[in-house]
Amino acid sequence: MKRARAPVESSRAAPCSKAPGRIESSFRNGWTAWLRPSLLVAALFALCCSTPSELGEGNREARPNVLLISIDTLRADHLGSYGYARDTSPFLDSLAAVGVRFHSAFAQASWTLPSHMSLLTSTYPGTHRVETSRRALPSAIPTLAEQLQGAGYATAGYVSWIYLKSEYGFGRGFDRYVELLPETSLQDSATHHSIRSEAFVDRALEWVRDPPAQPWFLFLHLFDPHMSYEPPLDIAQRYDPSLDGLQSGSYEVLSRYIDGLRDDAPAVPPEVLRHATALYDGEVRFVDRALRRFFAALEDRGLLESTVVVVTSDHGEELDDHGSMEGHQWTLYDEVIRVPLIVVLPGSFSSRERSSRVENRMVQTIDVAPTVLELGGIEVPAEFEGRSLVPLLREESVDWEEFAFSQIRRFNLKWALRTPSHKLIYNQDPETDERGMPIRAGFELFDLVADPREQDNLYDPEDPLTQKLMARLRQLIEERPDYGAGEAPILSDEELERLKALGYAQ
Ligand SMILES: [Zn+2]
Repeated sequence: MKRARAPVESSRAAPCSKAPGRIESSFRNGWTAWLRPSLLVAALFALCCSTPSELGEGNREARPNVLLISIDTLRADHLGSYGYARDTSPFLDSLAAVGVRFHSAFAQASWTLPSHMSLLTSTYPGTHRVETSRRALPSAIPTLAEQLQGAGYATAGYVSWIYLKSEYGFGRGFDRYVELLPETSLQDSATHHSIRSEAFVDRALEWVRDPPAQPWFLFLHLFDPHMSYEPPLDIAQRYDPSLDGLQSGSYEVLSRYIDGLRDDAPAVPPEVLRHATALYDGEVRFVDRALRRFFAALEDRGLLESTVVVVTSDHGEELDDHGSMEGHQWTLYDEVIRVPLIVVLPGSFSSRERSSRVENRMVQTIDVAPTVLELGGIEVPAEFEGRSLVPLLREESVDWEEFAFSQIRRFNLKWALRTPSHKLIYNQDPETDERGMPIRAGFELFDLVADPREQDNLYDPEDPLTQKLMARLRQLIEERPDYGAGEAPILSDEELERLKALGYAQ
C-alpha cells in the first residue's frame, strides 16, 4: 500500500512548458555525429566552456541538461560494472558502458545528511557543518542548484528521506523540490514501501512528461537499498533461493548485530548475512529496474542525448565487513565510503562506438558539483572545495592528488584520509561513543594493497609514511574555512522520536 505523504513543493514552481522541437536542435544532432569519445568531450567543451558572461540567451540552448541521481546506501562493489559477481545492476552497468566509470570514488561522510550536503555544495562536512539533525547549511555557502538556477537552468529535486528535507538547505536553488517522505519509521515495512523506487519514479516522471523549455537540472534521490531491505521477494530469491521472507532484512533482526564493533558483540550468523545480503542485492536490482523505466521515458521524449547523467551514492553499507550489520554512519571503512560514480556525457547514448571508459584515479563526491558547472559553462564558486573532473573526463594528463577526506561527527568523531595505497583513520574519542559503545581508539592505519578489507591496524607513530599521512590529515582537518554553523529546528518532535527509535538521531 502506498502511503507517501503529500509532497512538499516550494512556492516557486517552475513554469513547465513543453519544447517539442528542442531535442532536434543542432545541439543534439551535433553530438550524435561524434563517434570518438575524446572528440565528443572536446565538442562538449567547445560548446559549453565559455565564461558565464559569454553565455547569453542565444547560447543557452547549447547548455546540456543535468540529471544527478543519488541512490542511497549503494556500495560500489555490489554493482556488476564494479566487479560484483551477481547481476544486480544490468541497467546501471549499461550506463557505465556508454560513460565514464570512476572506479575509486569516495563519499565525504558515511551517512545521509552530511554526505548529501557535501555532494550538493562541494564542501567537506567540516566546512558545511551539517553533521547533526539540527544543523542547516550556512547561508554563505552556495549550492549547486543555486548556481545552475542563477545561470538560467530550470531546477527540480525529488527526494525520499527526512535527511534531505528542504529545511536543511537542500531546497535552496530548486524551483521545485518534492519531498516524498515516509509517514512512520523505517521499522515499519509498509513505510519503506511507501518510498520505493517504483512509486518514486512515477512521481519523477511528471518532470519528464512536461520538461521546461530551458536547460534543466534534475536531482533524484532514491532510497531502496537503505535498511530495512524489502525488495520484492522473488528478486532477492535469485540471489538466495532459500529465502522465504523479508525478516532477515528487517531492522528488528539486523539491529541485534548493530553494535558489532564492540568486542563482546555477538557474531553475525552466516544465514543472517547470506539472507540480508541477498535482500540488499535485491533492493539494488529493484532500483536498477525502476531507473531503466525512468530512462526509457527520457529516451522516448528525446531528452537523453542532450543530458549529462551522473549516478552516485551518499555512502555504502556494512554487511559484516567489520563484524556488524550496523548499516552505516559508525565507521569510515571502505564499505561505507566507497561509492559508485558514473558520468555519461551528452550524445553518448547514440554513439555507434561505445565510449565506455574506466577512470582509476581517486575522486570524491564533492568533485561532482564543480564538474557539472564546468560542463554547463558556469563559473565555479570559490567556496566549492571539490575539483572538476572534466580534465579526467577528457583523459588529460593533469597534476591530480589522489586522496579522499571523510569525516563523521555523530555518535563519535572520526576523520579518514584515504590514498590509493593506505588509509589513516583518527578516532578522537578513545573511550566510548555517546551511547557508551566502546570504539577503536586513536589511530588506525591500513595498507590497502596488502589488506584491502582493512583488518590489520599497522599504525606506528614512528613510521615515516604514517607521519606523512598524519600531517596531511591534520592539514585537511585544520584548513577548513569558517562559515559558521546554520541552526534550525529541523525536525518535528515526532520525527525525532522516529529517528531515535532507530538509534539514529541526536
Ligand atoms: Zn544515506
